[in-house]
Amino acid sequence: MARAHNFCAGPAALPESVLARAQAELLDWRGLGCSVMEVSHRSAEFIGVIEAAETSLRRLLSISDDYAVLFLQGGASQQFSAVPFNLAASTDVADYVVSGQWSKKALSEGRRLVQAAAIASSEDVGFSSVPARDTWQLGDNARYCHYCPNETIGGLAFPWVPTVSVPLVADMSSVLLAGPLDVNQFDVIYAGAQKNIGPAGLTLLIVRRSLLSQVRADCPASLSWQVAAEHQSMANTPPTFAIYLAGLVFEWLEALGGLPAIEIINRRKADKLYELIDGSDFYSNPIDPCDRSIMNVPFTLVDPALDARFLAEAEQQNLLNLKGHRSVGGMRASLYNAVPEASVDALCAFMKTFEQQHG
Ligand SMILES: *Cc1c(COP(=O)(O)O)cnc(C)c1O
Repeated sequence: MARAHNFCAGPAALPESVLARAQAELLDWRGLGCSVMEVSHRSAEFIGVIEAAETSLRRLLSISDDYAVLFLQGGASQQFSAVPFNLAASTDVADYVVSGQWSKKALSEGRRLVQAAAIASSEDVGFSSVPARDTWQLGDNARYCHYCPNETIGGLAFPWVPTVSVPLVADMSSVLLAGPLDVNQFDVIYAGAQKNIGPAGLTLLIVRRSLLSQVRADCPASLSWQVAAEHQSMANTPPTFAIYLAGLVFEWLEALGGLPAIEIINRRKADKLYELIDGSDFYSNPIDPCDRSIMNVPFTLVDPALDARFLAEAEQQNLLNLKGHRSVGGMRASLYNAVPEASVDALCAFMKTFEQQHG
């Protein structure tokens, strides 16, 4: 059976070789006569897995010992609440940059727990560009500044890392590991795994250790980064299978040449699709070309009446999950690390043919 060309925004494609390895090891992992899912998280074998995953991630991103790496649960959405609990009192101010649906959600969750202020927004232009840095109205006493470097739904990405005088918090759910990153420019990075890292159920958090002591006294233990760090992400049972699989994905990335190598492939994949879209009057993408995401590429057809047909014919070609998010409509192709370049080639070929037939 041929694997589908899977453009799902999340849970998204995983590398075929990683899945094959997990399959081969599933019933009898390391000669233990059971799967990795069926051993204690306190066993030496599993501790070896979580430590190897952390070491590999630290190598990929050159994460220094100033940062803790945490394997959490609850998705990126839970971090919308964990961020204020860990960094601010309820009376403190926190700054939020609103550049799309996800940063807007982070703001509305933040408002429940802290004096959250939208210090910049591009909603008035339909989130088609990132809010220019010189428009940000940073609070004098803000405890942190939160933003989303890659807006998964809108297909918008920051081409620069903001410099601010307060701790910088980034929701990198759909872009972590897409290319090299200087972790030292950030204070907190979090990401739900199911876009570019591994299966759903795991959330990665990279946090500057010096911030861990700021946690509120009333923060639930399950949301506290300090508690997680003190227990090596095992204050309670961690998502063991998801951590194992993420570890295999990190190994796969290292074998491929690390983040510089994957970034070259990712740029090439995205360039092919944007070039096709820009070269046609049939397809279009609304995002300012400087601020386009290389991970999530939304596009519309000139006549929305053709949308259903486009999706049905794509599916016949084994090109799956191209429907845009319900809030924006149209199409969206997510081109995460595990989406092979051949899948993008197949999509581009299909789009050209579809345009010839219906344009
Ligand atoms: C998918 C996504 C989320 C939500 O992730 P969950 O794990 O479903 O909570 C938040 N932020 C961004 C940028 C995302 O892409």
